[in-house]
Amino acid sequence: MIPIILPEQNLEKRSVSGGYLYVLAWLIIGLMTDYIDEHPIIYSVAMAMLLGFSLSRLWAKLSSGKQTHYDKPGWQRLLIANAIGPALVYGILFAFAMLHIEHHELFIYLFMINIALLSGGTVTYSPNRLLANYYLLAIALPALVVALTRPQERGVEGMMMVLYMFFNLHMIRLLNKEYQERIAQKKSLEELARKDSLTGLFNRRFFDETMHLCWAKHQRRQASLALLILDIDNFKSINDIYGHPVGDEVIRKVAATIGKNFQREIDIIARIGGEEFAVLVQETSFEQTRELAESICRQIADNSIDTDQGPASVTVSIGLAYAQPRQGFDQEDFYKLADDCLYQAKDQGKNQVVAKSI
Ligand code: GH3
Ligand code: MG
Ligand code: MG
Repeated sequence: MIPIILPEQNLEKRSVSGGYLYVLAWLIIGLMTDYIDEHPIIYSVAMAMLLGFSLSRLWAKLSSGKQTHYDKPGWQRLLIANAIGPALVYGILFAFAMLHIEHHELFIYLFMINIALLSGGTVTYSPNRLLANYYLLAIALPALVVALTRPQERGVEGMMMVLYMFFNLHMIRLLNKEYQERIAQKKSLEELARKDSLTGLFNRRFFDETMHLCWAKHQRRQASLALLILDIDNFKSINDIYGHPVGDEVIRKVAATIGKNFQREIDIIARIGGEEFAVLVQETSFEQTRELAESICRQIADNSIDTDQGPASVTVSIGLAYAQPRQGFDQEDFYKLADDCLYQAKDQGKNQVVAKSI
């Protein structure tokens, strides 16, 4: 099956490289300015925090082998902490530099870095609008506080930072909207690619792919599965007598009846040909599956379809194969067994189920 990419999964990919930039930028400031000599404690505390965030980010990346962790709250909290934490450290450092006019170089570097972070965070975190907004606020709010309370201390630069934050808040809204639209488009394209337009059931391509995966899964588990192939009887004459649109209606009705009987998410129902359907049934016994097949046969035969020329009665024939994957019996043999059963049902007079379990 085609995996759907979660926004969180996307965020992880987008944010992974940026995470280390915080440490590198602070390291360069330490090496190239004399700030580290004058305020070793503040420098080291900031570095320890940035390193802590980066390492936890690295740990999360290394320990995340599977997709399933993306929807766990713990992982999401870590992602949020990794986004907001370093941003807040840089926001506070900038506010600190605003208040210390003697550290002119530090101020200039932080001004550039924080402006860059506002832009980078906007692009990186836009798939999650709330997170992106908080990221920007973490960077610019400390500057706003200083600019409002001590406007004489670099108030102009502080307000510029805030202005740029507002511009980026607006950009986040636009980027997020575009992102959501792209995801929705992707989903509907994937849906279209796997569905049959007349019945809304899965199409043959998807059925074949799924059958392949399902067969492999049951081989590993040494479990049995069932395959039903259903074919509408004398469908050509239904088309000839009532016309093609009625034929289509019959196909839809048969599809709906099959759907009503196999409602579990793991039941894969597909239209695999003009008036031919297949159902892959897992975790159900042979007897139960056969009873369901027989019930479908009766339901279709008992419910005629209203047409302009009066009620049209429709019947189906069903071949049912039930087997466990094993050496000398592969997926093709399984399909052939169901198909042979279907032909036997047709031979024996149609409107019936022929089932074989081996
Ligand atoms: P049997 O009982 O042996 O299955 O005979 P049948 O007439 O059902 O089978 P046959 O294969 O001879 O005819 C199938 C017909 O289905 C021929 C084709 O025109 C028609 N058909 C295929 N796809 C569609 C469709 O999407 N809509 C309609 N209305 N007819 C279709
Ligand atoms: Mg037919
Ligand atoms: Mg047919």
